[in-house]
Amino acid sequence: MDTDQLERYSRQIRLPQIGEAGQQRLLDSRVLIIGAGGLGSPVSMYLTAAGVGHLVLSDYDRVDESNLQRQIAHRHENIGKLKADSAAELLGEINPRTRVDAINYELDGDELLEHVDLADVVVDCTDNFPSRFTLNRMTLATGTPFVSGAAIRWQGQVVTFLPAEGASPCYQCLYPDESVEAATCAAEGVVAPLVGVIGSMQALETLNILLGVGAHLAGRLLMFDGMTMEWEAIKLPKNPSCPACSQTASEGTAAER
Ligand SMILES: [Zn+2]
Repeated sequence: MDTDQLERYSRQIRLPQIGEAGQQRLLDSRVLIIGAGGLGSPVSMYLTAAGVGHLVLSDYDRVDESNLQRQIAHRHENIGKLKADSAAELLGEINPRTRVDAINYELDGDELLEHVDLADVVVDCTDNFPSRFTLNRMTLATGTPFVSGAAIRWQGQVVTFLPAEGASPCYQCLYPDESVEAATCAAEGVVAPLVGVIGSMQALETLNILLGVGAHLAGRLLMFDGMTMEWEAIKLPKNPSCPACSQTASEGTAAER
């Protein structure tokens, strides 16, 4: 680190859990963020500011006026622009030395799998179950830590999965039914700072995983109610008949090969 970086990250370096070695670890890290909307905004902004060296930010949507109430990585002047590019612009202003690869088309298949594999942490900032199920299966295959968040109306939740650890449940242990449909903010509404609360928790959890100071939401679902201002955590059991991570699921995958 040079003197500018020592100054920029001084308040983190001061923390005994981080220090210069921890900050260097963040600078050497690569995080894949799927979604540059309500959750992806605070996640990418905090990780950029905190000095994560390399972000890959994927979103193929365009900035709509109705996004601006909560998707704080986008400015009014960027209405109509691709979200990945719009967010990358702001991230470059926050910290020009963080490398941001903006992917403004639909990332899927082998290309997505490669990005999942190259990442130190994958952060789910999507708003739909099919994307989450795909990311879950891919992180199970690569063993990459997976931090998932969701927020709607006044409620949000965060959960982490560490697929490299055998006893870890996975996202589909939580939602075994693949036909489940996510409620949408467009239909149900969402209060602006809620996505900031949940996205900030995802960013903090991501830093903790990168630093190796804990992944304290691993296998625990943390829920927040912005109406009552209450947090609640429940431990997620591994589902022995999970369609994604159970013995039968892996045998099924093996049989398909
Ligand atoms: Zn599972």
